[in-house]
Amino acid sequence: MAQPFRFMLNQTETESYGAFIPRNLRPLIDRAIPHARAQISGSPVVAIGLASSGQTYFGVNVELPGLPPNYSIHAEQFLVANFALHFELKLIGLAISPNGYYFKAPCGHCCQFLREISNMSDTKVLITGPTGQGETHGTRMLLSTFLILLGTISPGNVPRLLEPSDNSIGFIDSSLQMDICSNSEHCNHLSCRALRAATKSYARFSKCPSGVALIDRRGTVYSGWFMESVAHNPSLGPVQAALVDFVVNGDGQEFKEIVEAVLVEKRGAVLSQEDTARMILEKIADPDCVFRVLHCEYN
Ligand SMILES: [Zn+2]
Ligand SMILES: [Zn+2]
Repeated sequence: MAQPFRFMLNQTETESYGAFIPRNLRPLIDRAIPHARAQISGSPVVAIGLASSGQTYFGVNVELPGLPPNYSIHAEQFLVANFALHFELKLIGLAISPNGYYFKAPCGHCCQFLREISNMSDTKVLITGPTGQGETHGTRMLLSTFLILLGTISPGNVPRLLEPSDNSIGFIDSSLQMDICSNSEHCNHLSCRALRAATKSYARFSKCPSGVALIDRRGTVYSGWFMESVAHNPSLGPVQAALVDFVVNGDGQEFKEIVEAVLVEKRGAVLSQEDTARMILEKIADPDCVFRVLHCEYN
């Protein structure tokens, strides 16, 4: 079991490191690097995000042993899921580094994912040269390239990624629906927590919200929800999002401590997460992990 790491800094701790510049962030990157789970590539990456609340959050890359690399969680995606877990609305500053020495732009996959956040072009992204010199703030240029290539995401009335969303869904099975706790945000029932997660899912394109809740051997519950990208592949699946909660709040435990999981999604969803969720859990969770799928519908 790895040493536990707190994947956030409160406002006072954030103020104490000073301005959001490479020199000040280097020690933070050094602290976070050992908590990346990059056993396959051997290439850890850390993302640091400054939130509009004045708090700072960490993301690390998480590779899933036994699965192809496209199931990995990128550090930037981890960071966004960590923001979502803490109800943070806006990313003010973003810094990505493999070593604390130089800072690089988000990968192409994550530039695309980050476009789901509104006003992302206002975010300050730290970029240095390969030897750590020549700090620039390249966000506007980077993301605008993608805007030109792919066109803008139409604003519409639907909340964007990180904005509060409340998919109005409930269980098809009325007996399950009757058992939902009023405080389902914090209770320890996997069905309540997975449904609650699915209500927060960002699935504006497919209209297929989904959420996952996991429980470890100690009885602690973790949850996460599908965060969709218009370009499909950069989307963050609900299991991966729940694994971010597990890494953030699981005291450094290994994934094999996960003993039960529930996925909530629409019955017959055109974008079903069931097969992928089952495959991921079979590879990484306890071999006897119980996996259940509960179906929901829009109210
Ligand atoms: Zn990336
Ligand atoms: Zn409950």
